[in-house]
Amino acid sequence: MLSDAALFIDGTFQPSRTGRVDAVMEKATDQPIGSYAQADAQDVDRAVAAARTAQPGWAALSAPQRSAYLTALAGYLDARQEELIVLSMRETGGVRLKAEDEVTTSIRQLRISAVQAVENAGDVLPPYKAGKLSLSRAVPLGVIGLITPWNYPMNLAMRAVAPALAFGNTVVLKPAELTPIIGGQVLAEAAAHVGLPRGVLNVVTGDGPEAGWALAEHRGLDLLDFTGSRAVGLAITASAAADLRPVRVELGGDNAFLVLEDADIDLTASCAMVASLEFQGQACISSSRHIVHRAVVDRYVEAVTRRVEALRVGDPLSGQVELGPLISAKQRDRVHKDIVERSVAKGARVVAGGTYDRLFYRPTVLMDVTPDMPAFTEEIFGPVIPITVVDSEEEAIALTNGYPMLMNSVFTADLVRGLGVAERLRAGEVHVNDAYARHGADNQMSGFTQRQWIGLQRTPLDLPSWTRDPLTAGL
Ligand code: NAD
Repeated sequence: MLSDAALFIDGTFQPSRTGRVDAVMEKATDQPIGSYAQADAQDVDRAVAAARTAQPGWAALSAPQRSAYLTALAGYLDARQEELIVLSMRETGGVRLKAEDEVTTSIRQLRISAVQAVENAGDVLPPYKAGKLSLSRAVPLGVIGLITPWNYPMNLAMRAVAPALAFGNTVVLKPAELTPIIGGQVLAEAAAHVGLPRGVLNVVTGDGPEAGWALAEHRGLDLLDFTGSRAVGLAITASAAADLRPVRVELGGDNAFLVLEDADIDLTASCAMVASLEFQGQACISSSRHIVHRAVVDRYVEAVTRRVEALRVGDPLSGQVELGPLISAKQRDRVHKDIVERSVAKGARVVAGGTYDRLFYRPTVLMDVTPDMPAFTEEIFGPVIPITVVDSEEEAIALTNGYPMLMNSVFTADLVRGLGVAERLRAGEVHVNDAYARHGADNQMSGFTQRQWIGLQRTPLDLPSWTRDPLTAGL
């Protein structure tokens, strides 16, 4: 790798000030596949200064010029697409379809932003009074600090980098230390390759508490954009509040999957495979609570368990598995010890799974989960389906709300009923008879309303194919 173990600051690859370097491991084999430099606060300072110096010149380019750079970045990544897909599989532990989705979505984001740069530059608003004219235009914020997680590292970087650059901002990106290559170094290589003006995109790799915190606290940013855990998001917003630094945080959720008594159980169980097990359940929108009506719970547990037992877990590069490894031993211990074992100690029952080999965690079904257990109250971020029984729709809604949630699903044969339940669930995205359908969750507040996406589906036909129903696929 061109940029192996280097920071990318002001258009040049350079070692960190301390010279400290750490290995990047392939998650399935625990073998090193690269390394990353450990930036410290002074490195972060230099990156922010470079972004500040570059910003006026970058904003002064015409929109079509900036658009052309984004198109060139997309073209560069496109040409390396197959290599990047394999890299993503090795570095994140995702199966091929997840990696393809990650890389192609990132490229598409660049192309969309390239179009938006020229088409969304501003508006002429209807005159509010005769003889008046109002214009609005998109003005860059300035220098954006960006901190991203490991689960969809390229995608979650690109969803901010592409629109930020499109509208004349410059960026300092700190990718997650578990995935710094696909989440950062590759973007730096792309910037260098297409000759992006120096300082427009800077990549500082390093661990969260040092490089991340230095960027999060930096007074030289116009916005800090953070995607990651609630704990770190809380620390960052508390620190920013002390001197009103602007921050935007996208955090985790304890998302619910409601199964009403009239649900189509086969449809629901096959959607559960996607909702809770795609990428080993390590998505912010994974369902981590299944709230199921007593009348159908036995059939549901049986249908889910049969499918879970048919899933194969192993090295994604084999092409023979539906689930890869978890991201780290720390994450595995959190899932197993903190969630599964602690819930079992409080009375939950393991119906399937609950075992692991190295980072390979068997998909797990937990029964008799009650609202006082960590399997109910915490975001799991692992391949676990915890099932809680309720006696009514009212009870299901009451149990669902009251937790931070990004996306919920409700299953019922009656679409109108489903819509009614969706309206009462407090999440940015709700699906009726579907797992996540990639509408693109838009959770951000606009004024005093929250946009809620509602996806409706009658049949399970558009399930992503890695999770093709393991029973009908004959596994
Ligand atoms: P994390 O908070 O541990 O790390 C995220 C990033 O923050 C990493 O780059 C890390 O190095 C950095 N970081 C860690 N400690 C820091 C500190 N003290 N100061 C500054 N930066 C620090 O989260 P993670 O484990 O990488 O990601 C999983 C979490 O992210 C889950 O909770 C998940 O739900 C959430 N997530 C949310 C979304 C979303 O769009 N809402 C998307 C993906 C993941």
